[in-house]
Parts: sequence; structure tokens; C-alpha cells
Amino acid sequence: MLEELKANSRKISLTTLLTALVSLSVLLTFTILLVASYQSKKTSLIDTTLTLNFSSAGKMSLTIDSLFKSMRSSLQYSASLFSDINDMNVDEVSNKLELMRHSSNYFNSVTVVDETGVVRNVSPKSVDTIGRSITTEAAKEALASQKPYLSKPYVTASSKRLIVFMSEPIFDKAGIYRGFIGGTLYLEENNILNMIFGSNPTDKMGSYFYIVESEGRLLYHQDRTRLGEDIRANEVVRKLIQGQSGYEQMVNLRGVSLLAGYVKVPENGWGVVVVSPISVVNEQLRHYIITILLYMILPFSLLMLIVIVLARRLAKPFVALADLVSQNTKDRIKLPEEKQHWNREADLLTKAISTALIDMKKQTDQLKHDATTDPLTGLINRRTLEAIMHKWIEEKTPFSVIIMDIDRFKSINDTYGHQAGDEMLKHFAQIVTSVVRPSDVFCRFGGEEFIALIPHAAAEEAYLVAERIRLGLEHSANPLGHPVTVSQGIAYYSSHANSAEELIHIADQALYKAKASGRNQTVIADMRKRSVLGADNNHQMDNLTSPIRLMNNGRRKFPER
Ligand code: GH3
Ligand code: MG
Ligand code: MG
Repeated sequence: MLEELKANSRKISLTTLLTALVSLSVLLTFTILLVASYQSKKTSLIDTTLTLNFSSAGKMSLTIDSLFKSMRSSLQYSASLFSDINDMNVDEVSNKLELMRHSSNYFNSVTVVDETGVVRNVSPKSVDTIGRSITTEAAKEALASQKPYLSKPYVTASSKRLIVFMSEPIFDKAGIYRGFIGGTLYLEENNILNMIFGSNPTDKMGSYFYIVESEGRLLYHQDRTRLGEDIRANEVVRKLIQGQSGYEQMVNLRGVSLLAGYVKVPENGWGVVVVSPISVVNEQLRHYIITILLYMILPFSLLMLIVIVLARRLAKPFVALADLVSQNTKDRIKLPEEKQHWNREADLLTKAISTALIDMKKQTDQLKHDATTDPLTGLINRRTLEAIMHKWIEEKTPFSVIIMDIDRFKSINDTYGHQAGDEMLKHFAQIVTSVVRPSDVFCRFGGEEFIALIPHAAAEEAYLVAERIRLGLEHSANPLGHPVTVSQGIAYYSSHANSAEELIHIADQALYKAKASGRNQTVIADMRKRSVLGADNNHQMDNLTSPIRLMNNGRRKFPER
């Protein structure tokens, strides 16, 4: 039993199971929603950032393209002004160069070099190279090419500046090459690129951009110390060098994961790269998730609460039924409350169990009735009588026992038949019932023997009751039509004995006496019997002193007289 209880307590209850199940589904739904929304937001954020960076890079590329065209045409125009340079004096050339530099701000310095490679003039004057021969590879290349020229970034020999240089050839009216006019950008100082794109391009999202020239060297970067650096190893720069434009997630040379948009500048082969660190996206995602969580937590908690309440309500009738069924034993049957359930199965089950329990109760009641009563007379039987006697003795309720035995009943049976005998038994039962009080106990003890218990009555009082019975029977109009009599013996608790068995035994001895003395009489047990019975040796007593003879079939035989 204990083991079973332990095993049952280890089993999961339906309420817990249902609650856990629905909580789990709600939590799972919540998690899936969160993960799905996180993923889609991440994808969309990455896509948006990539597209945005690509379009920014495109716009900047367009700007640079048109800027570069303007710079080129400005140089071309100036070159045409210097077609008769050999006829111009130094001041005239100086003035034109100054005018050109100031009018557009395209270049940090402008230089005119003749066909022999000697610097004819330069603006601003601070660049002190007039009259000197050109030394840099770029200038020499430009001179030799006799074509429009654009250099890589390089460091000048004299001023040690990092510059980019572009030039236009000068031809005289006869079409003879007369040198070139070159403009420079001082990459590390304020220049036209800084002016257009700003000196601190990092936005609050951490995005920034850089410009590379056609061979992968940095022309523009927020970190000026990196200007001129060769970053060909960078994935997107390599693609730019190959002439591609696009956008992608990449890892830069410093191992930072970036979202890059990159676009080639058609005019000069440079490239613009706009990048946003992926950490920026992650930060935005974190904010997004926190917001979502804040928005979802209340409705989901509410949902969780509702489903838990619903689960419990759903489980309730089944739990109640299970409890009810487990509490029901054959001794005690509890019926479920008459209640309609909103759940079809619970309702059907409750009704089915109700019907089953009602049937069981009926059967049990019937069995109980059968076990406690005598079917012929409807009186209580010997077992019930003994239980009542034990109870009264335990409670120390004084009472008298009258044991009755119909005289010569066997001959009634023999003469009139068993059926008539039965009718006689019922008749006798009715007579006794009419004599005793409702508080008295009357039982069919077996065969034609009956016992009445009269509570709070001394033997003498019981004697009066017994006599009323005896005379009632004798004078009653019985079914046989001729007088039938009864003999009775009386014992009193607690004067005669202290146990039910002894009391009956002593009453029986008195009955024996009544039989022996001629029947149709009542005898109160002798008080002296008590000491012998009190010796607690009933068997011995039975054998030695009891005049009752037990026959083979268990019936006693009273003496004839
Ligand atoms: P005594 O005066 O000595 O009591 O004589 P008796 O014939 O009554 O005693 P005995 O014990 O010899 O007979 C009892 C008879 O009661 C025997 C049995 O057939 C009959 N009997 C027992 N139970 C029933 C019953 O339920 N119905 C009928 N009809 N007879 C019963
Ligand atoms: Mg008998
Ligand atoms: Mg008898």
C-alpha cells in the first residue's frame, strides 16, 4: 500500500502534464517567433546596409567621376592657354597658374614643365622648384608619354609630401609638344576630396568610406596615417582593381567583419568603398530584440496565464474523477457531484462513472443488506447481533439477552411442511417485533431460534418482555391454526458475563432449563453460573457442565420431558 502510494506520488499528475505541455508550447512559440524575427531582421538589416553602402559608394563614385572630369578639363583648358608658352614671360605664366589654382581649388599645386623636363613655373610660389629639372618617376613618365596622365600616390623628393599627380600635355599651335601642365593633390593635407567628402566621414552608425586608386593604394581614408597604403590584399579592393562594383559581407585586413558597398570610378579607375562594421548591425539587432521582448513579454505572459488556467480547468474534472475513483472503496462509495462539464469527454466520463458508481453502490448496499439480514423474516442476522453486542459491551451499555427457541418446531415442519414452518417463523417474528421497542434489537439467531437484546433492562424487566412474547405467541392466531409455544432463556450484561459469547451461552443454558422444565416458559439464568464462566475456560465448561448437546449437523437437542 505504502509502495503504491509512493509510486503514485512519483507519477506526473494530469494538471502538471497539461500545464507543462501548454507552457512549453507557448515558450517554444515565443522562442521560435523571436528567433525567426531575429533572423529576418538580421537579413533585412544586412541587406539594407549593404544596399545603402552600395548606393552611397555609387553616388560618391559619380561625384568623383564628374570632379575628375572637371579637373581634367580644367587642366586641358589651361594647357590650351599655354600653347604659346615659349612666347610668354614668367609673370604671365605665373598669373595664369595662380588664377587657375584659385578659381577652382581643384589642386593643391599646379606646375608647368617644358619639353626638356625643366619646371617653368609653379603655383603656389612656396613650392620652390622653378628652374629645376623634374626628378620624380611620375613627372618623367608624364613628360615622356605626351598624353593626359594620372600618377599613383607617391612621396615627393623635395617636400616629402604624399601626392597624386595628373597632367595634360601642352602642344603649340604647330602641334609640337611643349611639355605639360600638372596639378597635384596633397593627400595628407586639405584637398578637394576632403572638401567634398568631409574631414571626418564616420557617421554615428560607425560607417565610413575610403577611396583607392587603380592599383589599390589608399587615396582617401578617415585614418590619414594610412594614406598611400597598398591594400590590394583586401577582397573588395581586389575586385575594384578587376573593374567590378558590388556589395558584400567581408573581413578587412584587420580582421573586422564589414558590410561593404564598392563602386569603380569610370573616369580614372579609382574605387570608392563604403563600409559598416557588422557589429553595428548586431547592436541594432540587440536593440530590436530587447524592444520585441518588451513588447511581447506582456501579451505572452497573459497568454501563458490563460493557457495555464485553461489547462487546469481542462484537467480539473479528470483529476476530480481520478481522486473520486481512487477514494472509493467497497466500504465507502462516494458519488461525483451532479455537474455539467463544458468538455464533452469530461462530461461523458463523469456521467459514465456516476452511473457505474451508483450501480456499485446499489449492489454494495444490497450485499450489505444481505450480509446483515435474514432473508426470510427481514430481521437482522446473527453476525449483526454479535456486532451490536460487542459494541454495547465496549460502551458498557447494560442489556438483557432473551434467547427464544420455538417448541417442537421439527414436528411442525414434519406435520405441515417446510413452507408452513417458514410462515410460522415469520409469524413469530411479527409477534416479537410488535412486543419489543424500536430501541431493542431483535434477530433471527438461526433456525427457529431468535434473540432479543433489551438495553438498560435488568433480567427481571427482560423477563416481563419475554413473557409478553411467550404469551403473545401462545395466544396468537397463527397460520397453523393450533397453539405453538416458545421457550426462552435470559442473561444480563454485566451480571452474568462480560462477553457476548458467554452471555449467549448462559442465556442458552437458561433456555435449556426452560425446555427441560416442560417448555413454553421463560427462565432467567442462574447467577452462580457466572463464577464458572468467568474462569475463562468455556470449552471445558461446555464439555463438563453444559447440558447442551451438539448434534452432528450443529443443531442442539433439548431434553424431552
Ligand atoms: P425443541 O422443542 O426441543 O426445540 O424441538 P424442535 O423440534 O424445535 O428442535 P429441533 O432442533 O430438533 O428442530 C428444529 C427444526 O427447525 C429442525 C429444522 O428442520 C427446522 N428449521 C430450521 N430452520 C428452518 C427454516 O428456516 N424453516 C423451516 N421450515 N424449518 C426450519
Ligand atoms: Mg432449536
Ligand atoms: Mg425448537
